Amino acid sequence: MATITKEYINGLITTVQNLYLSDDIPWMIGYSGGKDSTAAVQLVWMAIERLPVELRKKPIHIMNTDTLVESPVVSKWVEKSLDAMREMAKEKQVPFIPEKLIPDFNDTFWVNLIGRGYPFPRMKYRWCTDRLKIKPVNNFIKNKIAEHGEIILVLGTRKQESSRRNRTMTTLEKKRVRELLSPNPTLANELVFSPLETWSNDDVWVFLMQYKNPWGYSNMDLMTMYRGATADNECPLMVDKSMPSCGKSRFGCWVCTMVENDKSMEAMIANDEEKEWMTPLLEFRNKFGNPEGDRERRSFRRMHGNLQGNYGKLFHGPYKKEVREAWLKELLEIQQDINLNGPEEFSTLKLIRIEELRAIRRIWVQEKHEFCDSVPTIYKEVTGMEFDDPDWICFDNFGSEEWKILQSVCSRLYGEEELAFEMMYNLVDIENRAQGLNARKGILNDIEKAIGRTFYMNEEDATAYYSDRMNRKKQMGGKYNEKFLDYISEEDSEVEDVEE
Ligand code: SF4
Repeated sequence: MATITKEYINGLITTVQNLYLSDDIPWMIGYSGGKDSTAAVQLVWMAIERLPVELRKKPIHIMNTDTLVESPVVSKWVEKSLDAMREMAKEKQVPFIPEKLIPDFNDTFWVNLIGRGYPFPRMKYRWCTDRLKIKPVNNFIKNKIAEHGEIILVLGTRKQESSRRNRTMTTLEKKRVRELLSPNPTLANELVFSPLETWSNDDVWVFLMQYKNPWGYSNMDLMTMYRGATADNECPLMVDKSMPSCGKSRFGCWVCTMVENDKSMEAMIANDEEKEWMTPLLEFRNKFGNPEGDRERRSFRRMHGNLQGNYGKLFHGPYKKEVREAWLKELLEIQQDINLNGPEEFSTLKLIRIEELRAIRRIWVQEKHEFCDSVPTIYKEVTGMEFDDPDWICFDNFGSEEWKILQSVCSRLYGEEELAFEMMYNLVDIENRAQGLNARKGILNDIEKAIGRTFYMNEEDATAYYSDRMNRKKQMGGKYNEKFLDYISEEDSEVEDVEE
């Protein structure tokens, strides 16, 4: 543990300055807006500001990952902080460059959950951290490494955060080739500097309270944000998958289902009447993240329509069309309500961006063959506005009218067959798209695949089909799914529902 005295901080500042001046390798600092990363940025800032202007040559990128599903209050806080840094850096002639890193719009939380229908993130299927946090940072860092050959990453991580963190940091410390700089196990040419490695929680607060924030932000307000929260963890800059879930943190995503209840958001609402407007967010997250009945909300086939299972039951895959549509509508309604009736500063808050809505539209229409094209309809229904999508190209022979007719015909003729309508709209759409001679290439293959995905009457029929197939393979001495066929009894085993 460090003791935060003036001498100690001055000594640390000199260490930071020496390291900064020792080479030309650019620096990056992870900044989440939380206390640890604020302390790290503040310490480096103080060190650089005390150097003569002509020595402040190396750029220092302050990286903040915005998952696009950050808690709105924290997100606003961070946004204002980055703006303040930008202004102050210019004024004080310090080489800090704030960078907001966001996920690819085709790979955001909503595009995967509502668009593709991925099951909400859970322990065995945590698909979000990599897409929302790790990839944007790694892409940014990789580009900088390609440009400069090497980079130094400054993190506010501390050994006392957890025993796991302590173990990892100590192991990497032993692999140091340069003093104070640990290698990154997953990214070559990246060295990690953790100036707060020996600090305790209290040390961080003592430092933040004793030293004025150099970009003119209020560390006192930061403390107020923490006060009342039941979870005091901080979501660090995620650089690899071995890091634990960041969901317990108040600086994590409001949609996080990795924790049973979003304690920090609950606390924020409970402790502050002004935050009551966030209650619908919490309720919505509890709804889509409810494991009870989740199986029934999802198709009994995998993402690409194939069957798979264990313990005599099929895995359930993506969310069904009606579930995805209902969630999109509800999300837009919450957004609309906050914009109109919430606090003034959130009157333009976007819970889901227009780019994400466009990506969802493309997945539904082009990949899932849902030619009724419901995104613009839902959008207009909720907001009263036309959906803006200038690059949209479509075949308009079939639309929502034809969709309804086909649906009613299918239910009249094949009422018993659960997937008959899906088979029909898939076939109609495949044929509709293959209008030119060139586009007809591969059409038979596509038709065959569509039929292969939808020829079961219902889940029971599909289970029997899959079971027969496995039995045949077993009898022929081939490789088969033992976990599905040779299970002991259904009661003894829990059905594993998602892919690991
Ligand atoms: S906070 Fe939760 S939802 Fe967000 S990336 Fe981390 S685990 Fe996923």
